[in-house]
Amino acid sequence: MSDWSAEFRAEIVNRLQERGVNRPCGRCGGDKFTLVDGYAVFGLVMELQSEHVERLLPSACVACAKCGYLTFHTLAPLGLLPDDQPTPPGDASASP
Ligand SMILES: [Zn+2]
Repeated sequence: MSDWSAEFRAEIVNRLQERGVNRPCGRCGGDKFTLVDGYAVFGLVMELQSEHVERLLPSACVACAKCGYLTFHTLAPLGLLPDDQPTPPGDASASP
């Protein structure tokens, strides 16, 4: 696994800035942030008793540099969602 390139990181930051993501940290009021390398992927289920994750929600993750508070931005509004979405492990539709 490698870190994201500086160019890709800048692209994500640009897309966030274009969308007005410029407010101070919601917890401490800090104004310095770090884009975390790697997608945060949330596993979604439609019902709590589900045994398998049904959908994956990949997100870009931004950390407050002062307190570490994390914020997540799903990729679709940023125009970063690829067409071939990964299926979650154990997805019944992907099993034989
Ligand atoms: Zn903070």
